[in-house]
Amino acid sequence: MFTPVCDIHTHSVASGHGTTDTVTTMAKAAAAKGITLLGLSEHGPATMCSATPSYFRACRNMPRDRFGVRLLYGVECNILDMDGHIDLTEEILGTLDYGIVSLHRKNIRPGTKEQNTEACLKALAHTKIRMLGHPDDPLFPLEYKKLVSFLKEHQQLIELNEASLVPGSYRAGADSYARQLLALCREYEQPIVLSSDSHGAAHIGDFTYGLKLCEEMGFPKHLILNDRVEVLLSMLRC
Ligand SMILES: [Zn+2]
Ligand SMILES: [Zn+2]
Repeated sequence: MFTPVCDIHTHSVASGHGTTDTVTTMAKAAAAKGITLLGLSEHGPATMCSATPSYFRACRNMPRDRFGVRLLYGVECNILDMDGHIDLTEEILGTLDYGIVSLHRKNIRPGTKEQNTEACLKALAHTKIRMLGHPDDPLFPLEYKKLVSFLKEHQQLIELNEASLVPGSYRAGADSYARQLLALCREYEQPIVLSSDSHGAAHIGDFTYGLKLCEEMGFPKHLILNDRVEVLLSMLRC
């Protein structure tokens, strides 16, 4: 029996789109769904209408525990160019619990497979960055072997993004990319994290399609970290 208790890729109203739910509403929903570790990973400042650097600076004073849910304050930074520049300074990143880096179509034009990969690997080297977000986007093909061996070597995480896999996803076709990635993660013994990428409370802890894919592929449960808070925290270096 696999019981996920962690969701570290979620967005509140502070991300500026998709929801008006506050951190309190999100924490309450997480508690009701049995999630005990909730990571708020608001979009970085380059996303239109998202949180400003001062918001991220203020996160260190936010509550760490609500309704029995441990809260982590992170960021989903935008990768801005092929040199891996991202949209928060090292100083502000240093004040957060962890960071995710992602390629978003509104903030970077897709390059070749090699360029996209290089951008991700460089972005992953920034302070506190621990995970690559939605690496299954068909718009940004990646050299998966290179990526997974890098993550393994540097003890960083990769996610299986639920929003990519739901029917009607705006990353149409992501499932075949996710399959290739899972096969390599299995080969390299690279841990993964199921992420809801929920904008608001509604989908927190919902990993329906991610779990289905893992089960279909016989992906080893010990490589999915969502049921072990302490192991995930140590990978996040929190
Ligand atoms: Zn994203
Ligand atoms: Zn996101």
